[in-house]
Amino acid sequence: MKSDREITNGVGVTPAIDVSGLVKAYGNKTVVNGLTFQVQAGAVTGFLGPNGAGKSTTMRMMLGLDRPTDGRVLISGRAYQDLDEPLRHVGALLDAGASHPGRTARDHLLCMARANRIPASRVDEVLDQVGMTATAKRRIGGFSLGMRQRLGIAAALLGDPQVLILDEPVNGLDPEGIRWLRQFLKDLAAEGRAVLISSHLMTEMALLADRLIVIGKGSLLADVSMAEFAAEHGRNRVRVRSTEPERLRAALERKELRVESAADGSLEVYGADVADVGGIAAHEGTSVLELSQVEDSLEDAFMRMTADSVEYVARPLGKVA
Ligand code: ADP
Repeated sequence: MKSDREITNGVGVTPAIDVSGLVKAYGNKTVVNGLTFQVQAGAVTGFLGPNGAGKSTTMRMMLGLDRPTDGRVLISGRAYQDLDEPLRHVGALLDAGASHPGRTARDHLLCMARANRIPASRVDEVLDQVGMTATAKRRIGGFSLGMRQRLGIAAALLGDPQVLILDEPVNGLDPEGIRWLRQFLKDLAAEGRAVLISSHLMTEMALLADRLIVIGKGSLLADVSMAEFAAEHGRNRVRVRSTEPERLRAALERKELRVESAADGSLEVYGADVADVGGIAAHEGTSVLELSQVEDSLEDAFMRMTADSVEYVARPLGKVA
């Protein structure tokens, strides 16, 4: 198709979404605090952060619905306001509750199509794509949240855009709907589109996203591939409690192991197993009160990372359960 769908590791390719120095303040409260990141075509990018982190506000600024206090967002190299026929460039799902309750699903999409000079034939195509052909003539007011989400996704697809921005699209979907959406979004990315989806659930992102943008309190905490995040944070560690933690720590660090102090005074050792740590302690002659393997899930890593974004680097690992 178009050349701008090509992925060449970002070199020489205009990013699908280019966020630069983005700031949003409401009164004296800064809710988006200097975000800079890019979203590339051909991938699902997870936009992850706890509730209130600033994801929706950032997405609203991407779509020209909120004015940045500072910085800018470009979609395919242009500000949203400068896109002609924006629905053909970028489709969005922001607030699934926003549709007119008295209208049928089909009428809602027809209105949107008409207002955006999109052929009416697209309406039936997108209804089919999201599995809503049978419910197209029902009024939106009687829809479950899951059906509203599907309708919102249909609306986002109406202009056959290269960029999709979906705010918590998994919300309200039943397990079958979630499985459907995962595959559907992966397929859209495989066609060369940029898919940005926000979520507060790491578990969901782990199953879906190729890349992760993590924010906390409006600031960027991570911009990595899912594989990098898993390799960095999904590692197991060993917890060891000793009568002489500082001496044991020094001995472990001499073996080039990364050691962090937990809140309860125990040490957490990365890159070693229980036998390694036990062996080093025995060699050092320090008595060991507890020695155990700790399974670390990606969800734990995300929770730690966002628990207090300001103190993230200094926070002892054991502090947050
Ligand atoms: P998220 O989508 O990550 O849950 P939001 O972008 O919705 O986060 O909100 C980020 C912060 O901005 C929250 O503290 C929220 O209360 C605040 N906020 C959002 N919109 C407004 C507004 N119009 N006026 C004042 N504060 C707002």
